[in-house]
Amino acid sequence: MRMFSAEVFANKPVANGVWEMRIQAPADVLAESSPGQFLHVSVGDERHVLPRPLSICRIDKGAGRIRLVYRVVGAGTAYFAKMKPGESLKAMGPCGNGFFLEVGEKALLVGGGVGIPPLLFLAEKLKEENPGAFITAVLGYRSTSFLKEEFTKACDEVFICSDDGSEGFLGNSADFLQFKLAGSSRAKGIISQETVMFSCGPREMLKRIAGFAMLQQMPCQVSVEERMACGAGVCLGCPVKVKSGDGWKNMRVCKDGPVFQAGEIIW
Ligand SMILES: Cc1cc2nc3c(=O)[nH]c(=O)nc-3n(C[C@H](O)[C@H](O)[C@H](O)COP(=O)(O)OP(=O)(O)OC[C@H]3O[C@@H](n4cnc5c(N)ncnc54)[C@H](O)[C@@H]3O)c2cc1C
Repeated sequence: MRMFSAEVFANKPVANGVWEMRIQAPADVLAESSPGQFLHVSVGDERHVLPRPLSICRIDKGAGRIRLVYRVVGAGTAYFAKMKPGESLKAMGPCGNGFFLEVGEKALLVGGGVGIPPLLFLAEKLKEENPGAFITAVLGYRSTSFLKEEFTKACDEVFICSDDGSEGFLGNSADFLQFKLAGSSRAKGIISQETVMFSCGPREMLKRIAGFAMLQQMPCQVSVEERMACGAGVCLGCPVKVKSGDGWKNMRVCKDGPVFQAGEIIW
């Protein structure tokens, strides 16, 4: 993990309020990055001191680029959306632990909103490690989808859900798992103890996914979001409660996470 300066190669909207930015990144940062890790990206104005964490969505080693996909929710992300090709930004990374690459025969990737981007990098990496693995993705959007084509290429099967019913299943990805997939004939192939689940999205969704995984006795990793400051494990500003013996302890989302086993988090 290190600080670096990156030139913006492209930056464009891909869905309502969601943008995709491609940045040139140094070769060692590209080589070190693994799925589930993030960049801590500085906002280039003096009023916003803290960098903003954005997950690595995809690595293009040939072109030397990292793709980030982000929703504009406040001043920092609004600043990113104004950046033009040729301008540069400062970032630190790759940060965090990333997913544990359990490369079994089957993987079930469940994403919600801007939790979807890191699962693309993961799908591509899982296929690279085990080309025979069967990868299913369940992707939940507010409305218009993004990264659908890329997931279709990287996965064997993709289910789309949307909160407003404009695409695919009406509801979020946790609803889809619980009310659609679990009751269907397809479930026998996917929902089994041999399938590893990987999930990233809003906390409420992850909590339901963790409950589902526990009920089905499926191994499940979740990437959690917490507001964070230093991004390097120093300030202890992004705690998550995890089980420890008969009690609990705090762990740091930025350094010990953002990926945890679903069963270890106290939801
Ligand atoms: C490890 C990690 C990876 C992330 N990856 C992505 C990504 O790939 N794409 C993406 O769009 N977003 C991602 N986020 C969330 C992103 O970092 C925040 O949306 C961003 O920092 C908001 O900055 P802002 O200045 O635009 O908004 P702010 O003005 O800081 O906040 C605007 C609103 O967003 C809420 N908010 C801010 N940060 C978070 C957060 N971490 N979790 C939940 N709500 C938050 C605030 O409470 C407030 O309501 C990630 C967060 C973490 C911790």
